[in-house]
Amino acid sequence: MQGLHLTADLYHCACESVLMTDADMLAQLCRRHTLEAGLTLVDEKWHTFPEFQGQPGGVTGMLLLAESHLAVHTWPERNGVTLDVYVCNFQEDNSRKAEALMKAIVEAFRPSDMQRQHLTRGDVDGPADAGELVFEDVAGQAYFGFRFDRRILDRQTAHQRLELLESAPLGRTLRLDGRYMTSEAEEFFYHEALVHPAATAHPAPRTALIIGGGDGGALEELLKHRGIERATLVDLDGEVIDVARRYLEKIHRGALDDPRATVLVGDGVDFLARTSDRYDLILLDLTDPDTPAGPLYTPEFFHRCKHALAPGGALVLHMGSPFHQPGQVRDLCRMLRAQFAHVRPYGLHIPLYGTYWGLAVASDALDPDAAAGETIHARLEERGIRDLEYYNARVHGALFALPNYYLRLTRD
Ligand code: SAM
Repeated sequence: MQGLHLTADLYHCACESVLMTDADMLAQLCRRHTLEAGLTLVDEKWHTFPEFQGQPGGVTGMLLLAESHLAVHTWPERNGVTLDVYVCNFQEDNSRKAEALMKAIVEAFRPSDMQRQHLTRGDVDGPADAGELVFEDVAGQAYFGFRFDRRILDRQTAHQRLELLESAPLGRTLRLDGRYMTSEAEEFFYHEALVHPAATAHPAPRTALIIGGGDGGALEELLKHRGIERATLVDLDGEVIDVARRYLEKIHRGALDDPRATVLVGDGVDFLARTSDRYDLILLDLTDPDTPAGPLYTPEFFHRCKHALAPGGALVLHMGSPFHQPGQVRDLCRMLRAQFAHVRPYGLHIPLYGTYWGLAVASDALDPDAAAGETIHARLEERGIRDLEYYNARVHGALFALPNYYLRLTRD
């Protein structure tokens, strides 16, 4: 009985309209992709519905497979399609064939929005944990994953694949291009660590720029510093901001609409090239270097950041995993050292990233590791910052206490 059941609900399909109404054409397409996926066609049945309110009727089709079935239902009046691909893994694991067939049919309909479900059916030893196991790889060598009960969104934006998943332990969880970004339950690890060490080591931050960070988590932490008068957030992808506003309130807690915040959609490189503003803090809250954020992990961009900092200001960024991505972390530290007098790498384990994660503060004037615990504690008190989940005066020092393998990477 054990098998995989994929469903997809497709919205605003940009395919030829005839594909929604011509049963023969649709049958041929499904037959072809079924055979190409290596599945076994046993029988099939197709039905075209009569016209409905002056609109051509939709098509319902079923391909009976030796491995189970493919079902297709088109809704031409809504440009919508619902799909089922269900395979049992009786004689072999047909999961990849099912994924390939689903992918091919979805691509034929070209939806601009889609909701996917990924159900594990039956299990050899009785009911297994429900939900979809979603893996991520770290630098293509280590794999880790989490089990999710629900896939709320799965869409291709103009810049990246955006998934919104949900599970009881993590809550709503955002993934971009297959990388975990942030989750309701553990977002404080990353967002508090990105914001508070530099913001608290700075004697009086008033203006800040966040590049990326469309989920609003870093902005929410930043605005806890009462002295912040103006925070500008620039994210490449407006859909991330829209999804955050609609689904991730528990992460941004309304920060995206705070009167002190200016939230813009655009490329961070373009923004920094145009702005004449100066910032006490610049936070790069970006996807990884091998994504559309790549140009923001370069000497040229760090040079631009340096000149966009107000006197005494600091740049903060995450660098990846010192263990799994030593070359990336070493290179980024070198680039920063070429631009700034003080480069302070730090790090912490981030549950959603499956490993210890490196970050860094770079500045010509500010050395966060020189700030005494008493100073950090006093500033948190003065600024009324008490409800943190991770960061405190002692953790501040601990963040910068690097293990030797990481220290060695960042020294030369
Ligand atoms: N690593 C952080 C995390 O895991 O919480 C980053 C999260 S934040 C969602 C990453 C954001 O960087 C995305 O919303 C993405 O659109 C944005 N981004 C990528 N490239 C960018 C660019 N060139 N300019 C501005 N934002 C960019």
